[in-house]
Amino acid sequence: MQETHLNPLPIAATFSKDPSFWGVDFEPQYIVHGDGSHVLGSDGRIYLDWVSALGSNLLGYNYQEFVLRVQRQVGLGAGFSLPHWLEQQVAEKIVTLLGTHVSGWNPEGLGLRFGKTGTDATTMAVRLARAVTGRERILSSGYHGWGSWSISKTPPAWGVLEEGVFDFPFNDLDKLAFCLDAYSPVAAVILEQPMQNPNPGYYAGLRKLCDEHGALLILDEVVTGFRYALGGAAEVYGVEPDIACYGKSLGNGMAISCIVGRREYFDWFSRNDPVFVSSTHFGNAVDLAAADAVLDIWGEAQVAHLWRIGLDLMDGLKVAGYDVIGHGPRSLIQHKTPYERAFFITGMRDRGFLMNRPNIPNLAHSSWDVMKTIATALEVKAEMLNCGPEELEAKMKDKLPRVLFEGR
Ligand code: PMP
Repeated sequence: MQETHLNPLPIAATFSKDPSFWGVDFEPQYIVHGDGSHVLGSDGRIYLDWVSALGSNLLGYNYQEFVLRVQRQVGLGAGFSLPHWLEQQVAEKIVTLLGTHVSGWNPEGLGLRFGKTGTDATTMAVRLARAVTGRERILSSGYHGWGSWSISKTPPAWGVLEEGVFDFPFNDLDKLAFCLDAYSPVAAVILEQPMQNPNPGYYAGLRKLCDEHGALLILDEVVTGFRYALGGAAEVYGVEPDIACYGKSLGNGMAISCIVGRREYFDWFSRNDPVFVSSTHFGNAVDLAAADAVLDIWGEAQVAHLWRIGLDLMDGLKVAGYDVIGHGPRSLIQHKTPYERAFFITGMRDRGFLMNRPNIPNLAHSSWDVMKTIATALEVKAEMLNCGPEELEAKMKDKLPRVLFEGR
């Protein structure tokens, strides 16, 4: 790597990629490149990566068919003066896939609009819901990106204006009903499927409450889309959203996102007085080529692979003595103390594994990767137990990873 003589940047462009979120003076500071399930760090070492680029790495690094198709499109052009023809093709592939997998949806009844990031998707979904309903207030559960509308309730909210958004807790229909009344009229309820399992009847009750209050149901599938099932969490839990948001894995590392939902809502984008959502790089042809390739490669067998690898990883980590929550395609180790967490992250790192939260399998992870990870996690656990809580605290107290959002 070329040596830099400038002052280093104070923080990475993406907060949760910043090395300080792994620990004080964490090495490696940078990733140089990736291949399959592994990455090369700027410290010259190779790591098995369970973070999968915060869930945007779906196929594994350097998946040949994907790479070739994206490379070809780079040569053919990225940005144009009219929409690229792939926009129509990729939109059709997405609505066909989701229209046949999400309960209550059908391809003809769906509309779609592209953005680049998950934040684009959730922000346009909320704007559309406000326009369609003529209401302002939004009820929100979970994280939906860095848009002002969503982050205003999460300290530190410097520079963020209040935008009529109120939090509600997942899995509690009584509280949701209370919020729908208390903040009436509500334009939309937006939520992501978190690590917890929904209580029986939760999603059906949520759908019913939204209908009774005339609020749109927006499902944020930025993490779960295509991973939990071809139709995302909506398919797994049998819920019919009015609008759903997709990002991360759709481009397998390239920046493309979209919202999909009832077609009549999407007519609002083509009116003479439209809902305004527009950006130079939306519909970029290289991003579209990436999504086009993902949609050709991705199928039931690939989703099953994520579940198998993910569930084996979860089971193995539990046997090794860890408290693991979540689901195969995305799980989380709950450490008892921040010191245990810091010890685990650095202990795994020292042995060649990048594990922070959450653990997200991709298509390149193998059973062998799982076995090596579990054996190593067991070793780290034994070392942790050997230390005891006081020694652990003394060792790790000055090296704790930064935490920005507690509980998010
Ligand atoms: N929704 C959810 C559920 C997310 O996890 C994230 C990002 N982690 C976003 C939205 C925002 O996506 P992005 O970071 O691509 O803007």
